[in-house]
Amino acid sequence: MALTIVGLSKTYPNGVKALNDITLSIGNNMFGLLGPNGAGKSTLMRTIATLQDPDAGSISLDGINVLKHKKEVRKILGYLPQEFGVYPKISALDLLDHLAVLKGVASASERKSIVEALLHQTNLWDARKKAVATYSNGMRQRFGIAQALLANPRLIIVDEPTAGLDPAERNRFLNLLSSIGRDRTVILSTHIVDDVRQLCPRMAIIASGQLLLEGAPLEVIAALHGHIWSKIATTDDELRALEAEFQILSTYLIGGQHAVRIYSESDPGQGFRAVDSSLEDVYFLQLSRDRKPLPVN
Ligand code: ADP
Repeated sequence: MALTIVGLSKTYPNGVKALNDITLSIGNNMFGLLGPNGAGKSTLMRTIATLQDPDAGSISLDGINVLKHKKEVRKILGYLPQEFGVYPKISALDLLDHLAVLKGVASASERKSIVEALLHQTNLWDARKKAVATYSNGMRQRFGIAQALLANPRLIIVDEPTAGLDPAERNRFLNLLSSIGRDRTVILSTHIVDDVRQLCPRMAIIASGQLLLEGAPLEVIAALHGHIWSKIATTDDELRALEAEFQILSTYLIGGQHAVRIYSESDPGQGFRAVDSSLEDVYFLQLSRDRKPLPVN
């Protein structure tokens, strides 16, 4: 599968430029689209899912013009929106069956086997007779995956699926995504760096509607090797002094003290020690460059 996005731009009527000339290629496997809230991720996901039109640019999916041939694209696409919306008071089994009818699976026996397989795959078999309205967040998200998989799509888009899940449900959900990502393309949009680190062989970072970086997590992490430095600020005054002097990527509390991480080409002195680079460092560095351009080293 090949999804090619070229020069995609979208400005909403209120003047917000949600997408600014995005060009991106997405191949097989799991692709992570990482960005803070308001970055333009949902706008991009909805546009790929044929639910809204851009002002400019093109999208092609295996040679199909996505913006023109929406019906064709919808046949091979599964979409789990950020807000799944209404949760009816009917059982997961009946709802999936109904959605399968809407997807055009006419044969009742075929629907039965598809729906049952999906309920097993998403670990909802035991809860299949419960109303979807009574499901927990995690169960709803898994149900969302089941409905997205109904027509056996080649491309699945999941928008911010792990927000609001507790750690156990999040883990279960990531495992489910990883298993469905083995034989199809999954685009995972998220603001959670760990989702991408755990799941995605390729990724992109977007912020303010712009593509900041595209690559493989392992490679972009390796590219910062030797450039990430950390030290503990023992007092608030020391923290403020460091903030004034350095461009701080992140500050973590460890035992009530601030562990500060910075990017520096060479040893910054002052007790900083080199530490392993992480995907969070990559992310925060890109975001800080988005806010204020760094001098080119
Ligand atoms: P993300 O999914 O990364 O949080 P969105 O695509 O939802 O980003 O939003 C990108 C920007 O566009 C935000 O500033 C948001 O407020 C704005 N936006 C999104 N949808 C609309 C809309 N329908 N009308 C006006 N502005 C919108």
